[in-house]
Amino acid sequence: METNQPGQARAIHPGQTCAVARDIIIEGRVAYAVGERVVVEAVVPDAQRPQYKYVTLSRALQKRFALSDADIVSLEAVPAQAAPAQPQASAPLTQNWKAWTLAAGLAALAIIVVVTGIVMFHGGATTSKATGAVVCLDPGHGGNDTGALENGVAEKDVNLDIALRTKGLLEAKGYRVVMTRVSDQAVSLAQRCAIANSSHAAVLVSIHNNARPPDVQGTTTYYCSGSEDGAQLAGDVQRNVVAKISRPDRGTRESHLYMVRNVSMPSALLEGVFLSNKEEAWLITDVGFRTKIAEGTAAGIEDYIRAAGAAKTQP
Ligand SMILES: [Zn+2]
Repeated sequence: METNQPGQARAIHPGQTCAVARDIIIEGRVAYAVGERVVVEAVVPDAQRPQYKYVTLSRALQKRFALSDADIVSLEAVPAQAAPAQPQASAPLTQNWKAWTLAAGLAALAIIVVVTGIVMFHGGATTSKATGAVVCLDPGHGGNDTGALENGVAEKDVNLDIALRTKGLLEAKGYRVVMTRVSDQAVSLAQRCAIANSSHAAVLVSIHNNARPPDVQGTTTYYCSGSEDGAQLAGDVQRNVVAKISRPDRGTRESHLYMVRNVSMPSALLEGVFLSNKEEAWLITDVGFRTKIAEGTAAGIEDYIRAAGAAKTQP
């Protein structure tokens, strides 16, 4: 495959839509998530470096930032036939999206290989060092999609809060965390799965809260029907969350939910508590309670990854 030399004839132009090649952490948050499409607002050539910098607006932070060649890949620069080998999840994503994800991933890899040396030499961009396994967290809903709206609580808000707390706990232990969203934004299920699948995460955990009927309470964790690893992960998350928040244990369940069905790694979908239940809705407005859900989720993920690692190193 032709490698794309940064800053040469294929330079990216203002107004062009590009894809972010890897998570860009700025000010301690994911400013740009891998796979996110960005519109280049200005191209700023740097006399010190042969490559260009591309300036765009981070949707997550609502600020303008410069990205380098190592950070973004032009969709137009993606070679059409560069879609070999990698086994993909048998996802009913649209063919276009699937092909784009694959091609963008491969092109991104090529560009990163070419540019990483230059970037590191100049000490320019953030070179995020993975100290542990990668975990993908998916805060359910967002933007126009509020999720459950019960007892004055919007599910999208508490899901995001719990996910961000889980992220902090995991990062403190050396895991690298990829988020499908970090703010109140609409992200389609297909996009979420594409982010997870291109993140090379060891696991995906989707964070939700339940609703209806109002007399029902407690915690449930779903996993993809037939997935042994998924069942294990869901069991670890469920056990730890229930231990932390002491709500009724509704157990783990097989499911055909989109998020657990269309990702290539073991996955689980937590339904923390029932927002339609007055007591549980009241509980979740408390930051301490949301922190406990996050602690349980992080502990469950850790239990699973530790056990999976141990199984791998067995003779
Ligand atoms: Zn939900």
